[in-house]
Amino acid sequence: MQWIRDQYAAGIAAKRPVISFELFPPKTEEGERNLLDKALPDLASLKPDYVSVTYGAGGGTQDKTLRIVEQVQKRHQLTTLAHLTCVNATRQQIGGVLNQLRDLGVRNILALRGDPPGNASDFVKPEGGFEFACELVHFIRTQGDFCIGVAGFPEGHIACKAGRQADWDHLVYKVGCGGEFIVTQIFFDNRDFFTFRDYLVKRGVTVPIIPGIIPILSALQIQKFTTLCGASLPAPLLTELKKLEQDEEAAIRFGIEYASRQSEELLREGAPGLHFYALNKARSTREVLRNLGLRPTTP
Ligand code: FAD
Repeated sequence: MQWIRDQYAAGIAAKRPVISFELFPPKTEEGERNLLDKALPDLASLKPDYVSVTYGAGGGTQDKTLRIVEQVQKRHQLTTLAHLTCVNATRQQIGGVLNQLRDLGVRNILALRGDPPGNASDFVKPEGGFEFACELVHFIRTQGDFCIGVAGFPEGHIACKAGRQADWDHLVYKVGCGGEFIVTQIFFDNRDFFTFRDYLVKRGVTVPIIPGIIPILSALQIQKFTTLCGASLPAPLLTELKKLEQDEEAAIRFGIEYASRQSEELLREGAPGLHFYALNKARSTREVLRNLGLRPTTP
């Protein structure tokens, strides 16, 4: 296990981008088997600096997160970033999960508020729990030695009615509570990332700010996903996607090209790493890394 804060410090010193992948716990047993037996070994062969695993709202999903985290860390000997949310949990329960993670040897945590469970539109603070991720960051700080990452939104968080600068100010505060690096939501116009980064830097943020990159796998799926998470699809991109709605293979190839071009510019403009939303599949991420000259051609 390495501290992710040390990975970024070493990467920045060596001018070498830190590469990370994000996985999610599949809903079905078959999906989980496929992830653990196929996608994860494929992704591990690309030698990411770390792998993150998302955390769902229900109890079952949380157990799965811990199982996958254990596999990433023990079987593949990769540094793991465990996501942790405030959804439906008291501080005692969160303390219990932190103990479990510590027992598994996982000390890097992405501290999140989490999305409202089910179809609820507003997040309701659980009794005895936390309202905002900054409170979770603060709490984790009191629970021993953990390295803590936080989420950031280059286009502003979807629920922040006061606008994106107000949301970024909340992020500045969250970093001040102990966030040691920022991983962003997906975005498709790099100018959004640069404006976001410049604002944070101007406000005194010095921690690494890592762009989240999604290689599009399906034209329909990405339109649905961006609507849910509040990321926008620039008009020229949307026009291209409309043409690819019935051709999955063409959409995958387009996604690889788009993510490669986006990543190339981000690295050129000083991003200290790339966090790939790999969607439990290796092919697109592998191809993007190959296009960037960051990993070997062969799987
Ligand atoms: P917060 O920082 O608490 O922000 C939530 C909202 O409250 C924002 O609108 C913000 O502006 C506002 N706010 C924050 N602090 C304050 C304050 N002090 N006063 C007033 N308003 C405030 N969700 C999951 O359920 N599981 C996951 O594993 C997961 N992984 C993710 C990984 C990444 C990289 C990203 C970008 C998102 C992830 N999400 C995940 C989604 C995330 O949990 C949601 O977008 C959630 O709604 C916001 O989380 P946050 O940690 O940014 O919350």
